[in-house]
Amino acid sequence: MSNWSIFKFGGASVKDPEALHNAVRLVRAYGTHPLLVVVSAMGKTTNALERYIQARELGDTTGAAAELAAVKAFHDHMARDLGLLDADLQAELDDLWAAAERVDSLQAYNPRYDAVVSLGELASSRILTAALKADSQDAAWLDARQVLATDAVYRRATVDWEQTSARTIAALAQPAAVTVTQGFIGSAPDGTTTTLGREGSDYSAAIFSNVLKASSLSIWKDVPGMLSGDPKVFPSVVRLEQVPYREAIELAFYGASIIHPKTIQPLEQGGTTLRIRSFIDPEAPGTEVGPFAALTPEVPCWIRHEGQVLIEVSSRDLSFLSEGHLSEVYRIFAEEGLLVRAAQHTALSTRFAVNDDRVAVPRALERLNGPYRATAEHGLRLTTVRRPDAESLATLLAGGPLRMVLRNHEVAQVLTAPN
Ligand code: ASP
Ligand code: MG
Repeated sequence: MSNWSIFKFGGASVKDPEALHNAVRLVRAYGTHPLLVVVSAMGKTTNALERYIQARELGDTTGAAAELAAVKAFHDHMARDLGLLDADLQAELDDLWAAAERVDSLQAYNPRYDAVVSLGELASSRILTAALKADSQDAAWLDARQVLATDAVYRRATVDWEQTSARTIAALAQPAAVTVTQGFIGSAPDGTTTTLGREGSDYSAAIFSNVLKASSLSIWKDVPGMLSGDPKVFPSVVRLEQVPYREAIELAFYGASIIHPKTIQPLEQGGTTLRIRSFIDPEAPGTEVGPFAALTPEVPCWIRHEGQVLIEVSSRDLSFLSEGHLSEVYRIFAEEGLLVRAAQHTALSTRFAVNDDRVAVPRALERLNGPYRATAEHGLRLTTVRRPDAESLATLLAGGPLRMVLRNHEVAQVLTAPN
């Protein structure tokens, strides 16, 4: 264990000038040094950048230009509102937006996608560093792509732990009191930008916690801690006080948006305790994820995903979809950047719930429709309950026209169409 601690600020904690100002205050009030601050893109910037690259890819030049202009204006407004927009910061931001227009030199869609969506974190970290300095804190900016080494699998890169560890330790040998870096992004062996998968900033924070042997990682959120469901969606949820590492992995796997699925393992390995804390009420107890025996309190946990697509793949000739075929189908999803959240097999077909993506879903369908027959139903909702009891099961099944129901002793999932 070292004396490093890590703070992670998500998109919501830097979504407007007031939130960013609050983040600066939290670093001053609760940060111990040396501190590494890992920051996400501001608000919904990543979604906007995603729309930009998709529009561009589909030849919608006007739509793309409008998306990028909005992203620029949003960041300029943030920086100006905080009185930070001097010539240096303006130049740093302008460089980023110029890079968004130069991605055509990259050979394929996925590297172009990563080169664009990573700009949100690069921009937010520049603005946060400027804000900390303006608050007279000893702050330095670190380009995560210099230290977080990955393979060249764009959109869901795998970490090269040895390189990342060596580079991070070297880069932070003489640290400023506060170092600000980006979540979500890294670089391939050839230096091109990669990303760790949507919502990957928590995972970045866990990676840095692991390689720096940090004693604690605080993830600052707009909720009082980890809850038994999204309070915006489910009416009666409670705060989880203590969550065993293993339970946190299960919850994250099903998509509890509170943390990225891969976040916990590096923490468990490094013995780092994760604290989820409220940036609105920083003195509140929050949630601790650590080496606990049981979930406290022990309640059903709810997770919901909108915007799912049901892809049904069947064989053309009434033969069984064998393991060989299934692994090919999964490979196509993986290569197109689609995430399978639920799957169900029958003799002649397999149904998959995947995230909707204007570019990737049609591409996957086109590839699948050669060897198989593949259809898609859009606009579905996936609801998952961990440790369901009778009451939660009844609620779950009453949630709308059913497209898929999965159930075992630990988890129940339904995919439903709009009522
Ligand atoms: N900004 C990225 C995303 O929205 C990463 C993150 O927020 O964790 O997916
Ligand atoms: Mg984000």
